[in-house]
Amino acid sequence: MTTHPLFDISGRTALVTGSSRGIGLALARGLAQAGCTVVLNGRDGERLTKAAAELGAAELSGNVHTAVFDVTDGASVAAGIADVEERVGPLDILVNNAGMQLRAPLLEFTDSDWHRILDTNLTSAFLVGREAARRMTERGHGKIVNICSLQSEVVRPGIAPYAATKGALKMLTKGMCADWGPYGVQVNGLGPGYIETELTQALVQDEEFSAWVRRRTPAGRWGRTEDLVGGVLFLASPAADFISGQVLYVDGGMTSVL
Ligand code: NDP
Repeated sequence: MTTHPLFDISGRTALVTGSSRGIGLALARGLAQAGCTVVLNGRDGERLTKAAAELGAAELSGNVHTAVFDVTDGASVAAGIADVEERVGPLDILVNNAGMQLRAPLLEFTDSDWHRILDTNLTSAFLVGREAARRMTERGHGKIVNICSLQSEVVRPGIAPYAATKGALKMLTKGMCADWGPYGVQVNGLGPGYIETELTQALVQDEEFSAWVRRRTPAGRWGRTEDLVGGVLFLASPAADFISGQVLYVDGGMTSVL
């Protein structure tokens, strides 16, 4: 089997935030299968070690490391990125994936939940992105992929704060592209549709909602975490060297139809 050189990312080092499970873990697995050295991140060291062992056992061509830090805390992020670069090597690829969902009508949404979701979904990308980009811009190359959402574009009742964080993350992506592009760093977003993970477990189990997702999606099904891998590998590859500030929606067509 031959791979076009434009898609070859073997030998690169990639950090995926929030990769102890779900989408982040699938993206980390994909990057490792493409020959990257991968760093898994999350707050629960035990869970991360287990995830890394699972990946390591899967006969991957790249190596797997872990880095336990909270992406919402500036000091932990600074120490975490410095530690990763020292232990593993210079970061070529960053995937800002860590995130959370809180569903409640806006009138019932508390101040503390507002700050929590903003910190986890938006501030985290700024903090981790800034630390990584300090080093990438100095070296003159790097790829950053921010995991946005179809809710960067559209919203439903009960998820306004989540959509606000993801809409802002899309604009942060464009701003990072503007600031860091001149130094060889490309920054793009990937916007998943409805994907079956722990985060959406309650929705998957709600038969009425689940059926609505299937009807509403041209592809006729929920997304799987593996559906997102190709888009991230592409955005992290030399094939995307002249693509920056864009969001690639991987949603079975959902954001395109009424
Ligand atoms: P999960 O809840 O399954 O996983 C979230 C991951 O983020 C976990 O590994 C968790 O690890 C980590 N995490 C959460 N908070 C922090 C923190 N403060 N510091 C470090 N790590 C953290 O979510 P998904 O895999 O479903 O979602 C991943 C991303 O994709 C999110 O940004 C989400 O918004 C986005 N997305 C998901 C969609 C879906 O349908 N599932 C659709 C569109 C976008 P730990 O708790 O151990 O720290």
